[in-house]
Amino acid sequence: MMAVTKKLRFEVFKRDGFKCAYCGRTPPSVTLEADHIDPKSKGGKDDINNLITACFDCNRGKTNIPLNVIPETLLKNLEILKEKESQIREYRKYIKKIDNRINKDVEVISQIYSDNYPDWLLTDRFKSLSLKRFIKHLPLSEVKDAMERAINRFPDDSNSVIKYFCGIYWNKIRGD
Ligand SMILES: [Zn+2]
Repeated sequence: MMAVTKKLRFEVFKRDGFKCAYCGRTPPSVTLEADHIDPKSKGGKDDINNLITACFDCNRGKTNIPLNVIPETLLKNLEILKEKESQIREYRKYIKKIDNRINKDVEVISQIYSDNYPDWLLTDRFKSLSLKRFIKHLPLSEVKDAMERAINRFPDDSNSVIKYFCGIYWNKIRGD
């Protein structure tokens, strides 16, 4: 029986946010596997649409095979360990990639502000707390739009702009 390739497995993990579909746990507390929705024994394919992220425990629970009858040779343990290490690595990369994107977007907004108020800079605290949060919750275009609206409203007041900008964000979150 051909196993799911590593590439396909990680595509499934990425799609599912590296979370077990059954219990919601993520590495490193669990080792993930790609579980066939339609079992292979019943003709299920090694296709991304037929695969779902499941942790080792949840995947075993579904098989009706008691854990203690699954042969765990030393080699298999080593394989699991290697897989786990590579999942932790990939998970960190995935998180880092998202974080890098958010940081880039923070700089885009920060640039719009400093283009309009050359003598002022957004504080690191505002950038890392408020702005990051806004960008996580709203599309960049909406955050940009909020900053531009605030600047148009207070072209000469670099402080009121921030308050107004935050106000727009909260209204959007509440669904104004
Ligand atoms: Zn699980």
